[in-house]
Amino acid sequence: LARNAGEHEFHQALHEVFDSLGPVLDRHPEYVDAAVLERLCEPERQIIFRVPWVDDSGTVQINRGFRVEFNSALGPYKGGLRFHPSVYLGIVKFLGFEQVFKNALTGMPIGGGKGGSDFDPRGKSDGEVMRFCQSFMTELYRHIGEYTDVPAGDIGVGGREIGYLFGQYKRITNRYESGVLTGKGLTWGGSLVRKEATGYGTVLFAESMLRTIGESFDGQRVVVSGAGNVALYAIEKAQQLGAHVVGCSDSSGYVLDEKGIDLDLLRQVREVERGRVSVYAERRGAVYVPGRRVWEVGAQVALPCATQNELDEDDARALVGSGVKVVAEGANMPTTPKAITLLTESGVLYAPGKAANAGGVATSALEMQQNASRDSWTFEHTEERLAAIMRDIHDRCLTTADEYGVPGSYVAGANISGFVRVADAMLALGLV
Ligand code: NDP
Repeated sequence: LARNAGEHEFHQALHEVFDSLGPVLDRHPEYVDAAVLERLCEPERQIIFRVPWVDDSGTVQINRGFRVEFNSALGPYKGGLRFHPSVYLGIVKFLGFEQVFKNALTGMPIGGGKGGSDFDPRGKSDGEVMRFCQSFMTELYRHIGEYTDVPAGDIGVGGREIGYLFGQYKRITNRYESGVLTGKGLTWGGSLVRKEATGYGTVLFAESMLRTIGESFDGQRVVVSGAGNVALYAIEKAQQLGAHVVGCSDSSGYVLDEKGIDLDLLRQVREVERGRVSVYAERRGAVYVPGRRVWEVGAQVALPCATQNELDEDDARALVGSGVKVVAEGANMPTTPKAITLLTESGVLYAPGKAANAGGVATSALEMQQNASRDSWTFEHTEERLAAIMRDIHDRCLTTADEYGVPGSYVAGANISGFVRVADAMLALGLV
């Protein structure tokens, strides 16, 4: 930890995984002998670079770009790019580390990496976002490729940004290399269901969790945090399964809509107008509560889909008080360690993001498959593949937890199952 001083989120992610691994290391001393844990903590490569660009007033702006290529034992590095002012090395490393285990859990041939910048796309014009993306890719292009490292979106990086990044990659390299980025538009190499995949997958995972207690989404009161890509499609799938979704949020506050969220209106405000949830509340005649978190409204199923550490112990207490049964993470590490303890000790079924939100990266891998075979699959076929992958991850978490003596723990099941797959590949590849 001393080597990574000040990288709090990275430390938190390391603790969360390593706290689960005792039973595996007892059974497999070969992992200890080969220093697999020490090797896992150290990214294979970290790239930090200057991103100069010119804003609409003609002023030169400088941001910092990152790509952390964490582990390629299972395949090319794969993981998103985040554009948000809070991005620094500790955030990128926590996300990259989580990604290694998540990608292993999908069972697909993808390693783990993550990147991004402290650039804030909010309030920027299209031209500014394009110039930033072009400058970012002017450095990043030399480090990525379909067999090397395949970035995708994350917070602040959606279809628009991936388009500008892909355009610049194509221009610099003179290669129409579709497999270099995922989350592309449908007319230029993208896959159906990729946009929906993380949110849909999280809800499908939560559905499997509910099934273990003999329940379904039908009629459940659901709250979702965030109102971005993951949140919107989590709301959509939960509603398709009969849930009553009453809340969502952004970083300014939350909406309580007891009639049930009007998804068409929310998408219009968020995806088309790039507006705030307060605008949705105003048009819909719903309650808007600034500066507070949505968990206080209570729910039977809670889906954190915004950002890290957005559900703390007080929030968990409020949810438990309202009778929450399932918490499934669409975001990465949204629940604090104390909140996780409180939830699990209260008998709530809790699934960590590396399992519950793995549908996004899994569908990115399906996009890579389609690019490699120059094919494009139907929505139904791709959604079926996603549903099967989510069921499989859910069941593997539970069987692994059973096998290692921690029945019912999705945390232990996800961490151990992902770890064993990566560790075995690392042993097979030798000390590299
Ligand atoms: P978006 O940028 O599309 O949306 C992020 C949403 O979260 C926005 O509504 C944003 O509000 C809100 N938000 C950000 N910070 C806070 C905060 N502190 N409190 C409340 N709301 C906040 O990102 P995504 O939907 O793509 O990503 C959301 C999460 O899901 C992230 O943790 C990401 O790592 C994870 N994830 C995403 C995947 C994907 O496929 N996109 C795949 C797997 C995980 P505002 O507009 O105010 O900033």
